Amino acid sequence: MAEMIQTDVLIVGAGLAGLNAARILNAEGIHAVLVDKGRSVGGRMATRRIGGGLADHGAQFFTVRDPEFQTMLDGWLADGLAFEWSRGWSDGSLAETRDGHSRYAIRGGMNALAKHLAQGLDVRVNFKVEAVAHVDNVWRITAEGGGLAHARAVLLTPPVPQSLALLDSGRVALSEADRRALEAIKYEPCLTAMIVVDGDVRLPAPGAIQRPEAPLSWISDNRRKGISDVLVLTAQASAVYSQQLWERTDSEIASALQVDLLPIIGEQSRIVEMEIKRWRYAQVTSTYRARFLMAEGQPNLVFAGDAFGGPRVEGAVLSGLAAGRALAAALR
Ligand SMILES: Cc1cc2nc3c(=O)[nH]c(=O)nc-3n(C[C@H](O)[C@H](O)[C@H](O)COP(=O)(O)OP(=O)(O)OC[C@H]3O[C@@H](n4cnc5c(N)ncnc54)[C@H](O)[C@@H]3O)c2cc1C
Repeated sequence: MAEMIQTDVLIVGAGLAGLNAARILNAEGIHAVLVDKGRSVGGRMATRRIGGGLADHGAQFFTVRDPEFQTMLDGWLADGLAFEWSRGWSDGSLAETRDGHSRYAIRGGMNALAKHLAQGLDVRVNFKVEAVAHVDNVWRITAEGGGLAHARAVLLTPPVPQSLALLDSGRVALSEADRRALEAIKYEPCLTAMIVVDGDVRLPAPGAIQRPEAPLSWISDNRRKGISDVLVLTAQASAVYSQQLWERTDSEIASALQVDLLPIIGEQSRIVEMEIKRWRYAQVTSTYRARFLMAEGQPNLVFAGDAFGGPRVEGAVLSGLAAGRALAAALR
């Protein structure tokens, strides 16, 4: 049966931004419901089962700059949820490329952090929003399959072009300044391959290389990362290479990437299985100047996500926290 939701705040997107906003609102006693089109929470904090193992196929690791995020991380480290994976990456050459800054990862895969944050929250998955409208002073959110939600406030956390499309479908008119600022936010795509290998691979410690200028800009071994019992590589094509290959079929992309992987996967080794994931909005390349945007002239309509807090895991978390606080203040 189609879902009917009535809440104070409807949060579109149960990625890191949405989850952290919901936690703030819950703590303030404001009812928030998160909806996500995916089968599970996490968004780009994505981990997939493949070939009897696991592969992180979205965010690979995260860094910390902000003191509030550091405090959150300290808790996850103490609980054994997060671990320091590395202090920099080799580019595959003999050159020393470590910069000494800690890179953290999550035990059981990056998605486990989203699952942890979702505990105790009201989350509805498989809920694909089609339109966000404002009717009779109430936000009216309609979803594929007839799902419907009514809310006093809406927080939009999908990649911004997708959020704008939802408002356009609901005929919500943004101010000229807001629309201009939101349309200026840009993203790059990323084609990601998950590859199950029988045998060995040539990757320097700690089992990953990062080469921004190469066609495959990131290659990592999820087994050496400690999240998979079997050898599964994650390989990410650079933005330029992703754009070049984007229109090809998955099997054509897999064939091209196999050639690029030849120096990594030894001749004695064999690719057993390979899956391709297309991230159209992988990385934000031009962000908004503040951690969230509260729309002008539209009551309690807020935008958040990594496009606002910074193009990384930490940015999404900080944006969600800031948006949650702003909405709590507005609704009190
Ligand atoms: C391949 C890749 C590698 C990355 N590597 C790193 C890294 O190593 N380190 C790092 O710090 N960051 C990395 N990032 C970036 C990081 O993953 C993101 O910055 C962060 O996860 C974004 O969180 P978010 O909540 O803003 O957005 P998202 O995680 O994208 O969440 C948005 C949610 O909205 C949902 N949604 C969208 N449309 C609808 C709809 N119509 N109805 C319902 N739900 C909808 C989506 O399903 C999604 O769950 C990487 C990203 C990718 C894709």
